[in-house]
Parts: sequence; C-alpha cells; structure tokens
Amino acid sequence: MLNIVLFGPPGAGKGTQAERIKNQYSLIHLSTGDIFRYNIKESTDLGVMAKEFMDKGELVPDQVTIKMLESEVNKHPESSGFIFDGFPRTTQQAKALDDFLSSKNLSITKMIALEVPNDELISRLFLRGKQSGRADDQDKSIIANRIKVYENQTAVLAEYYKAQNKLATVNGVGSVDEITRRLYRSIDI
Ligand code: ADP
Repeated sequence: MLNIVLFGPPGAGKGTQAERIKNQYSLIHLSTGDIFRYNIKESTDLGVMAKEFMDKGELVPDQVTIKMLESEVNKHPESSGFIFDGFPRTTQQAKALDDFLSSKNLSITKMIALEVPNDELISRLFLRGKQSGRADDQDKSIIANRIKVYENQTAVLAEYYKAQNKLATVNGVGSVDEITRRLYRSIDI
C-alpha cells in the first residue's frame, strides 16, 4: 500500500499533480474539495452545508469532513493505495486519519508538501477563477482568506508529519511536467 498526502496551500497544484500520481502508481485520488463540489452540484444535504463554509473560504467542520473522507476510503477496499488531496487540513483531521488507517492496519507512507510563494498562488487562483468559474477563486478577499486559513490551521501539519519522519518537500514552481518529475522522484526514494 502506498498512501500519500499531497500537501500545500490553495493553488499549489495539488489537484493537477494528484491526477498524474494517481495514474502512475494506480492509486485512488480523494480530493475533499472535489467531493464537496460534487455534493454542492447535486444539492445533497452535505453540499448545502459545505457551501456555506466554502463560499467564505472557511474550512468545513472537522467532524463532517472526517466522516465523509472515511466513507470514501471505505468505498475502495481493493485499492493499492490512496492519494489524499486537500485532506487532512487540521491537526484533528490528521489524527483522525492516523487512527482510522491504523484501525485497518494501514498508515500514511509519506506527506509531500508542494512549496509555492504566496504571490504566485494568488495569481494562479485568480486565473483559475476566470477559466473555471469556481466561485471561491473569483474573489480576491476569499482567496486571501483561504491562504490565511491555510497558514493558521493547516501549515502546522508539516510539523506533524515531520515528527513522524514522513515529510518531504518539493518545489512547486516550474512547468507541470517538471513538478511531476520532482514528485515521482520524491515518491520513489
Ligand atoms: P484549494 O486547495 O484551492 O483551496 P480545494 O478544492 O482543496 O481547493 O478546497 C476548496 C474548499 O473546500 C476549501 O476552501 C474548504 O472550504 C473546503 N475543504 C476542502 N477540503 C477540506 C478539509 N479537509 N477540511 C475542511 N474543509 C475542506
């Protein structure tokens, strides 16, 4: 089993790179942001609830997010591993993920942090907003809030995985192919 947490601020390129890693290593890609957006599109109860937080650039409450993630993992008992994209985002989520995986005799193999400076993030997100129509990418104050939430609540997770000797960092600036190659190298070590 290869279980990777792909980590980094909003706009770091997690979604794009996770798709490639998923194909290369035959993993299941679980993006909490994509799952929430799917639920919003389908107007499920979960989607209606999540939208309230996402529209402000806040995190969806831990309990809801953890429960959803666990049920997604449980849908793939035959998988040869997972790539987690956008999860965990808080210490409580990271602890819940460790407990949940260990109850199945599994664990996180590695957390790979994509590093991108803030000014680059803001311009990437704003461009994505124009191209994709994603609501939370179209408003500079919502983008700024997501980066602030990342710095206040999520960035600390690098320390959490570092303490377990599982942290790797990868430069997230460059061409998409270049960054993919760096990520493969980091996984293959
Ligand atoms: P980005 O990485 O660009 O912020 P995502 O698609 O990963 O985009 O997430 C979009 C939004 O979905 C977040 O701003 C947050 O509101 C919500 N979300 C995604 N993952 C989580 C999570 N693990 N915990 C809480 N909220 C989450």
